[in-house]
Amino acid sequence: MSTTPGYADQARKRTLFRVLGVVFMGTALLLMGLAIADFVHAFNADDFDTQPTKFWYFFVALPFFAVGGGCLNAGFIGAAARYGAGETMPVVKDSASYLSDGRGILGVGRTADEGSAASTATGPFCSRCGVRNDDSAKFCDACGSALG
Ligand SMILES: [Zn+2]
Repeated sequence: MSTTPGYADQARKRTLFRVLGVVFMGTALLLMGLAIADFVHAFNADDFDTQPTKFWYFFVALPFFAVGGGCLNAGFIGAAARYGAGETMPVVKDSASYLSDGRGILGVGRTADEGSAASTATGPFCSRCGVRNDDSAKFCDACGSALG
């Protein structure tokens, strides 16, 4: 029986985190919805004795929300790290393309990616990997995808 943790194991954990994240988030939203509906119901009632009885749902929902958000975070950070594995500067590059929405607006993706040739380019940024290319370039120098 193999006990070596591999990608498969990590992928399973990430999937678990994502599923848990969605479940917790869904529960939180459901509880919040019930709490708000109850509050609105009591507020609109003609009888002033009608009080919201389920408003505590809202406070129960908060930890669910936090846990769900944490799970989703863990699930997707893991994916980003794995995606970058084997690349030169995975974290910088991932962060740069994330921050710049894949367009390299901050110019960081470019420096993290290629050397002198790319650094003098003044043309379009690759929408896929964020590397800047020459003005006349039809395809990205770094990843080969077509430039819009
Ligand atoms: Zn590219």
